[in-house]
Amino acid sequence: MLATLRFPVARSLGRRYPEPDHPYRNAFQRDRDRVVHARAFRRLEAKTQVFTPGLSDHFRTRLTHTIEVSQIARTAASCLQLDEDLTEALALAHDIGHPPFAHAGESELDRQMRRFGDRFDHNLHALRIVETFEQRYARFPGLNLTFEVREGMAKHSRDFQPGEIPALDEYLPGLRPPLEAQLIDLADEIAYNTADLDDAYSAGLLSAAQVAGAVPQYAAILEAVETQFPGASSREQFQEALRRLIDLLVSGLIEGTARAASESGAGSVEEVRAHAARIATFTETAQETNRQLKQFLHSHVYSSPALVEERRRASAAIAGLFQIFVEHPEQMPENYRAETEHRPPHRVVCDYIAGMTDAYFQRTYAAVAQRSQTL
Ligand code: MG
Repeated sequence: MLATLRFPVARSLGRRYPEPDHPYRNAFQRDRDRVVHARAFRRLEAKTQVFTPGLSDHFRTRLTHTIEVSQIARTAASCLQLDEDLTEALALAHDIGHPPFAHAGESELDRQMRRFGDRFDHNLHALRIVETFEQRYARFPGLNLTFEVREGMAKHSRDFQPGEIPALDEYLPGLRPPLEAQLIDLADEIAYNTADLDDAYSAGLLSAAQVAGAVPQYAAILEAVETQFPGASSREQFQEALRRLIDLLVSGLIEGTARAASESGAGSVEEVRAHAARIATFTETAQETNRQLKQFLHSHVYSSPALVEERRRASAAIAGLFQIFVEHPEQMPENYRAETEHRPPHRVVCDYIAGMTDAYFQRTYAAVAQRSQTL
């Protein structure tokens, strides 16, 4: 496998604020533990993944999605003989910067920030959380994570060129991240494509036959399941097919990455970094199935009237609260209001809202709406 491409923890570029070694946990294991103990990590429990709670108690939250990504990424890393601890730390941190209300929240915050010539990006926000907002140490702000974990967070969705994102210039622009970090984005896709199918099935938005009509590999799996378990209920058949689909995609990721690594000729982490493209990849078949799943979810789930309406309501509420806070910073808690004296108010408002859970947002919105009638 890819043991020569594993990132050796002993060669980590280390932490911003040097710390003595721990007697029995290495630096990446400590980073994983620091993420798990962060407040922002616990808040993932009350943030929407795709389906808001209420209709069912079984939908993924952003926390359970994160655990699924971590499980998939660790399986791939361990099978490929990469560093499982670095992979796990990155998987657990990958969504830590997500605002309330999933992608509706993210795109509405970005829309509000653009009015001020600024942007909201959940990966950059995640870095600010682990660098600044978390307060767990007396000696320094943030979690003081290793360079490789911060780099992996910065490059979670894509790589960038020197000067392209000035705020990220310290994270080796122009170079690929280690393979452990490259796995996360693809493990994320496997986790959310299959989980969204599952949750949409629970919500009554689709049938197994519809998925089979759009995704040939799924159709083959379903047929095999129906032949093998003709007496099983349709829910049992759906679940059985779903777990085989996850297995097929994870195997496709492992096999595709192993093959691409051997074709690349890379024999060291430096060569992985210098390679023209990312090495982690699906096999062609798994890639195609993943693409078809994504397309199916867009046309049958994400664009369903119920979800479109939920996103519209979430966006309107975020826009409303953002506007009120920008015009009336005194409506925010005192520490945030005080910050608007040193930093642009729209930045402070964005940070405040981005950190909220769905439930905290709803409570705040209701309270502010009530007070603002008297403004
Ligand atoms: Mg994710």
